[in-house]
Amino acid sequence: VLILAIESSCDETAAAVVRNGREVLSNVISSQIALHTLYGGVVPEIASRKHIEKINQVVEAALAEADVTLADIDAIGVTYGPGLVGALLVGVAAAKAIAYAAGKPLIGVHHIEGHIAANFIEHKELEPPFFSLVVSGGHTHLVRVKDYGQFDIIGRTRDDAAGEAFDKVARAIGLGYPGGPKIDKVAKEGNPEAISFPRAHVEDAPYDFSFSGVKSAVLNYINGCQMKGEVYSQADVAASFQKAVTDVLVANAMHAVEEYQVDKLAIAGGVASNSALREAMKTACEAKGVEFYYPSPIYCTDNAAMIGVAAYYEYLSGTRHGWDLNAVPNLKLGER
Ligand code: ATP
Ligand code: MG
Ligand code: FE
Repeated sequence: VLILAIESSCDETAAAVVRNGREVLSNVISSQIALHTLYGGVVPEIASRKHIEKINQVVEAALAEADVTLADIDAIGVTYGPGLVGALLVGVAAAKAIAYAAGKPLIGVHHIEGHIAANFIEHKELEPPFFSLVVSGGHTHLVRVKDYGQFDIIGRTRDDAAGEAFDKVARAIGLGYPGGPKIDKVAKEGNPEAISFPRAHVEDAPYDFSFSGVKSAVLNYINGCQMKGEVYSQADVAASFQKAVTDVLVANAMHAVEEYQVDKLAIAGGVASNSALREAMKTACEAKGVEFYYPSPIYCTDNAAMIGVAAYYEYLSGTRHGWDLNAVPNLKLGER
């Protein structure tokens, strides 16, 4: 089964061809990062316009790179939420037009289901049930993956997402956008124990997260330094902040591992490429005898290959969408 997948929920215009949900024949990503860097973050209106310019090129490139034509494709998968409505609409409209014109079934995919499914690409042996920690720009979810396409969210952030906190702190310490990869890099030169930032635990909700406190603590710290006329170490702030965030992510995940007797944990989303998180989670999982999985960085941040993987399993379970498929900016995981 060959799936042509399209992703345009935020600031990457992407298309991919995936065979049988596990083999990526092409994975084309046109990133708008350079464009949005000028404004310090994603500008929705600019994102939509750029998607319109790029979408056809990216789809054609994905087919060409996979060395297939539309006639070879069995279904079209597309992210229809969550994300920026104007950005999502471009991908959804393109997918509908292609599916209609070529007479192929249309399968709308949840973006976070895609992030989780990214783990299936390089770990051929990984199958549900397992646990997933989704850490992206807009989500921080601890998810029980009961079966393909079947999820229980057992914990979530009460305020900022992990990636959002990385981006905000990076901006505050002058690293710019996108902040996650920059903090990851600078933190390698810093001391994670230099500054003690808070590790928030949500009362009576051991699997929930809160990152606004640590973000404020960083802002207070650098303001304090500036008022005293002291120069702070960017590397120490980055390393200490990163440690505070990863400590909580690991602690909550390990709590779930014990409570739910989990034997497999897969991380997903942009922050899953963070080197400190991978290292800490790997060590913690090894200590508990839990199998630990993570995708390569290219499959952690937004891409269409992961959407093609998720669409394949939706295809197998019979999910089909009509020509009235619409973008759903706040789509819930597990909704059809
Ligand atoms: P969502 O998937 O929740 O809709 P999104 O698609 O914008 O949000 P992703 O593309 O999954 O998010 O991930 C982008 C986020 O990942 C950004 O916040 C970015 O800073 C963060 N990120 C990327 N690489 C790293 C890294 N090495 N360390 C920490 N954070 C990172
Ligand atoms: Mg992005
Ligand atoms: Fe994403």
